[in-house]
Amino acid sequence: MSPPSIRDLPSVDRLMQAVRAELGEESTHERLREAARAELDSARAAMLRGEATLPAAPALLAHLVASVTARLTHELTPRLRPVINASGVILQTNLGRAPLSAAALAAMAEVGASYSNLEYDLERGERGSRHDHLEALLTRLTGAEAALAVNNNAAAIYLTLIALAAGREVVLSRGQALEIGGGFRIPDVLRQSGATLVEVGTTNRTYATDYAAAISPRTALLMRVHSSNFRQSGFVHTASLDELVAVGRTHGVPVLDDLGSGTLLPTAPYGLAPEPTIQASVASGAALSTFSGDKLLGGPQAGLIVGRRDLIANLRRHPLARALRVDKTTIAGLEATLHSYLRGTAIAELPVWRMLATPVAQLWARAEALAVRLRVVGISADPVVCHSAVGGGALPGEDLPSAGVALTPGAVGAEVLVVRLRTGVPAVVARLTAGRIVCDLRTVRVEEDEVLCQRLTEAWRKEA
Ligand SMILES: *Cc1c(COP(=O)(O)O)cnc(C)c1O
Repeated sequence: MSPPSIRDLPSVDRLMQAVRAELGEESTHERLREAARAELDSARAAMLRGEATLPAAPALLAHLVASVTARLTHELTPRLRPVINASGVILQTNLGRAPLSAAALAAMAEVGASYSNLEYDLERGERGSRHDHLEALLTRLTGAEAALAVNNNAAAIYLTLIALAAGREVVLSRGQALEIGGGFRIPDVLRQSGATLVEVGTTNRTYATDYAAAISPRTALLMRVHSSNFRQSGFVHTASLDELVAVGRTHGVPVLDDLGSGTLLPTAPYGLAPEPTIQASVASGAALSTFSGDKLLGGPQAGLIVGRRDLIANLRRHPLARALRVDKTTIAGLEATLHSYLRGTAIAELPVWRMLATPVAQLWARAEALAVRLRVVGISADPVVCHSAVGGGALPGEDLPSAGVALTPGAVGAEVLVVRLRTGVPAVVARLTAGRIVCDLRTVRVEEDEVLCQRLTEAWRKEA
């Protein structure tokens, strides 16, 4: 049959009519017209280029209808969608960091769907402050006098520096003038905030005396930044927070402690190195401590600042506080997350901690079951021991023994399979290790095992 010519293409109206007949009245007039026009334009262009991609005239209309329908569906498919994280990195920033607890999600849905007392004092019947909702919980859990939540920890640092150090000096160890990621560099943020960075010590060694020697009448803050995404070893010395606070007290200079992740619970029970706790930072006498809501805290994206009441009051009053404020759903999610800590049920309820605390034996049992199911359908799969990481700027170089399934692709090739897993629905992000695909089950929810099994089977079979 001869290829279709431009004359065989239907009119926009004819194509729209055919799509409507196919879909019922699902598509609004304008959206359908745009899709039909775009499809006809691209068909015409393909014909002019002499590409033989379209079927002959009798099947042409049906083909175009299918293409328009696909266009319409694609437009309404969310770009942001769930991914199965089989990478074993618990706080994977690229994959959205902390998954939220059921209680946090329920609170966000409830508050999001209705009006709320976000900025209304129900007792007094007058205007209230959105900043009040989390303060009591945060101070109770951390031991600080006051607290404030903003958009993220980067915003917390920025607001603190602008409000407290603009036009003055901030003393920071050269070893802590670091880049967090995504181009967020502490020295740049300092400059942006109008503060002058005074670097002290050397890359590998900084002593308390270095800070003391750098203090001048222009000093606004001593700053400590947790080296969250790299680790130094060898001939290294860092002044402790206690020492920094002592130096600060002598000279009347407050200490700002950027904890990065920060944690309310100890990490040592899970075989990890200790990550600095927020309580310890407050107890050491840091004037302000900042940390993320969506790293080890396990809540929605936020930056939390806890510390001295007078300083927090300054931050609240600063005009930038409004630009960086959190919305009602974030406050609801954070509140529910913090309640888990208050109840003492954080490890069972918060996905991040549940993943950290899952015993390897449990993961191994799931890995074995999954491998058996995959082998039954002819896939070369084995349970394997692997290593998960905390990620997200917490505990660099530390890993957790874990278990997963390893697929040994034959002719298909591991690279091809990894791409298929990534681009299917739901997307699966796995690891490629020595030509094998490893799915670390620590970061896969038990409820996801079934669909993971389906996706692996599908991706494998596509070739066969
Ligand atoms: C992650 C991190 C930040 C940035 O926190 P966000 O919540 O991602 O803005 C800042 N400082 C340190 C040390 C970090 O680890």
